[in-house]
Amino acid sequence: MNKNSSNIMALAPNTSNKRETVCIFGTGDFGRALGHKIIQSGYPVVFGSRNTQPSSLIPKDAEVLSHAEAAQKAAIIIIAIQRQHYNFLTPLAEILHGKVLVDVSNNLKINQYPESNAEYLAQLVPGAKVVKAFNTVSAWALQSGTLDASRQVFVCGDDMGAKQMVMDIVRALGLTPLDQGSLLAAQEIENYPLQLFPMWKFPILLSLGLTAFFFFYCLTRDIIYPYVYENKDFSFFIVISIPNRICPVLALILLALVYLPGVLAAIIQLYRGTKYHRFPDWLDKWMLCRKQLGLVALAFASLHVLYTLVIPIRSFVRWRQSSQIVSQALNNKTEPLNTTNAWLSDSYLALGILGFFLFVLLGITSLPSVSNNVNWREFRFVQSKLGYLTLILCTAHTLVYGGNRFLRPSSYRWYLPNAYMLSLIVPCIVLVVKFVLIFPCLDKPLTRIRQGWERNPQFSE
Ligand code: NAP
Repeated sequence: MNKNSSNIMALAPNTSNKRETVCIFGTGDFGRALGHKIIQSGYPVVFGSRNTQPSSLIPKDAEVLSHAEAAQKAAIIIIAIQRQHYNFLTPLAEILHGKVLVDVSNNLKINQYPESNAEYLAQLVPGAKVVKAFNTVSAWALQSGTLDASRQVFVCGDDMGAKQMVMDIVRALGLTPLDQGSLLAAQEIENYPLQLFPMWKFPILLSLGLTAFFFFYCLTRDIIYPYVYENKDFSFFIVISIPNRICPVLALILLALVYLPGVLAAIIQLYRGTKYHRFPDWLDKWMLCRKQLGLVALAFASLHVLYTLVIPIRSFVRWRQSSQIVSQALNNKTEPLNTTNAWLSDSYLALGILGFFLFVLLGITSLPSVSNNVNWREFRFVQSKLGYLTLILCTAHTLVYGGNRFLRPSSYRWYLPNAYMLSLIVPCIVLVVKFVLIFPCLDKPLTRIRQGWERNPQFSE
């Protein structure tokens, strides 16, 4: 059986209901791919093309006619042509009068033209009902049947009836139409496919900035300082030791930054005594990219785990262990087991393992396929309660790792503390403020505010 056959059967509706012919202008990649899917969905398709010669590329059940002839056969015409060629439609304005024109076009740059392509099309053919749709679906996904990631089709237009006709086709293709309103929304819809990871920009820039900062910080403390004062060359630390210091530091700071906007929002709401007042823009944007911040944090935590696994096979570590054994043998002295150190070491490892396990669990539950299968309360429980537990475990892992090193003067080179000590600042602030916020005298009014109660109505908009 063809690998797409199940897909095709799912898309093919009851063909006993005769469907209206759909016309597609343009026999390029997108026109052909869309035409093929529309035929599978039970619609007759006619192509309008500059070249009416038969071609093996064109779906065999479709007719290929001139633009004028094809347009006369259908009430709905999909314009699968680049915007810069739209002026060929002007002479066809009379034939296109009253027809539904579907603009599927994209641009090369955000806001490339003063008006959206769909609005430009509406100006060129004023008698037609223009609808914007399908621009976020790719020809490749249509052809290969891999539409899972992009099932949503944004639709907008000024004519409700025309929009409804287009949405019916979208549904018949097994896709989900999302009505975005009037044609004014077209520019925004055209910008969607051109945006480069919009929610990831802040987390990635922040982690790059922090990585650069902590890299130079560790370089100064762990390589330049011993070189200057002890004439020791630890430059090879750049490869594993320093990355293995930066990764946990970033994982912990970024995880804390996932929860910091929540506590800031709570403080703002308590201060204002209402939830009906917008947060500052920076806080809104920060809250929107918490999931991405958490996933970047998880990536750093995973790298830390991998770097830690190779520690026993490192040449430097093996040399240090064997020279300790040799020195004990030469001095005829055996160092007794330090039970306190053994406890500390096992505890910080156990905290790290548990923290990482919950971290992975948080990452998994943020996947849409998993979060779609839990209800809102379950999702909040995992992301909030388990999230805070992860933060507590990871902070405790770092605190126990530090142990009595916090008090040792040798931990401060050029007055600079170890990087992991700096990484504790944000999580400790978040955890302390969160702890204060769960006191009933603050938690009760906050809960009431979040349920709609207002202490200072003058703050509400
Ligand atoms: P394409 O392969 O370059 O095809 C465009 C078609 O436009 C040509 O095959 C041609 O069809 C027609 N054409 C070219 N010059 C013309 C002219 N001067 N006058 C009239 N017709 C002309 O482009 P495409 O990839 O199919 O994209 C078509 C539209 O779909 C674009 O607006 C694009 O932004 C949009 N889109 C594409 C994708 C995708 O994945 N490719 C995804 C979403 C949206 P005839 O030879 O039959 O006349």
